[in-house]
Amino acid sequence: MRNEQENTKALIDKLESLHTLSRAEFAEILACDDDYLFERARCAAHKVYGKSIFMRGLIEFTNYCKNNCYYCGLRAENKKARRYRLTKEQILECCKTGYPLGFRTFVLQGGEDVYYTDDILADIVSEIKAAYPDCAVTLSVGERSYESYERLFRAGADRYLLRHETANDAHYRTLHPDAMSSFNRKQCLRDLKKIGYQVGCGFMVGTPGQTPEHIIDDLFFIKELQPHMAGIGPFIPHSDTPFRDKTAGDVRITLNILAILRLMQPNLLIPATTALATLDAQGREQGILAGANVVMPNLSPVDVRTKYLLYDHKMCTGDEAAEYAAGMRNRIQRIGYEVAVSRGDCIDISSHTINPSPGQCHPA
Ligand code: SAM
Ligand code: SF4
Repeated sequence: MRNEQENTKALIDKLESLHTLSRAEFAEILACDDDYLFERARCAAHKVYGKSIFMRGLIEFTNYCKNNCYYCGLRAENKKARRYRLTKEQILECCKTGYPLGFRTFVLQGGEDVYYTDDILADIVSEIKAAYPDCAVTLSVGERSYESYERLFRAGADRYLLRHETANDAHYRTLHPDAMSSFNRKQCLRDLKKIGYQVGCGFMVGTPGQTPEHIIDDLFFIKELQPHMAGIGPFIPHSDTPFRDKTAGDVRITLNILAILRLMQPNLLIPATTALATLDAQGREQGILAGANVVMPNLSPVDVRTKYLLYDHKMCTGDEAAEYAAGMRNRIQRIGYEVAVSRGDCIDISSHTINPSPGQCHPA
């Protein structure tokens, strides 16, 4: 037993210094329950970002979607979803509320809603950037053409979140209808990076049929893509989707993946997701203590929050944005971290002075 533990610790150290492992070694760390993994991951995060946690204001501006991902409550065929769209004025109002609360990034997220043409979205992005020039705008509106991504970038969008969902093509096909492809999704991510966006990929943990081998494919895909951000959260079933009877993802494995990613790419921006907080009341804190450094409180108007239901029991308080942000700040301070009032861009570690050597790092 002691030998096994020593082995795992040695592998974690190896990951910290080499930023990669063999498939068999990754599999061993994925399954481990040694908190030494989290300790090393926190330490790696501290070396690049200190004890700062970046806050992004999430504006869920439409829940219309033309797609039919089998896992998602917003899928077009879910006739029970109560659909809504926010106007440009409503979106700007969310930013107006968020700015004095310290938000310096606004994330516009929604289904693939054809109503938001390039003209409409570009106009919204450029108005936000004109009103809040010191803020970053992140888009998360799914797959679009190269020209569309370029147009939105020129309008001022800084970042784009597009989870690749699974890097394994066969697994991708079991989660999506034929109209969608893993190839196209990955191509979108490469296009976004080429255009100049800070790019975020990611995947759900515990989607039906997912094996450790699939997760290792995801880790290698992330290694190859070298994104700026990676969003990893547990899959949670939604009762009005084909996956209604499936089991939710595992919290411990999700935390292990956050920690592995932190050690693989120490400058990565990694959110402690709402899905993690939905499955475990301490999920956000646990995520940060496993190496995450981003939180995304909801800035959407209170009356639409209960309609943006990707999965059942989504953690969604009726708090106004101010209370929500204050609550989040307190929770983060209680575990020894500080919310930074800054855009929170990805730090280029090639030009960064790295803090103490592993031996000198004393995480919380
Ligand atoms: N439509 C855009 C897209 O798909 O990229 C952005 C919005 S989509 C709702 C954002 C993410 O929610 C997806 O990438 C997916 O990983 C996640 N999601 C959807 N359904 C989920 C579920 N049942 N459990 C956990 N996460 C889910
Ligand atoms: Fe639409 Fe995104 Fe949900 Fe898929 S995950 S159904 S693209 S909102």
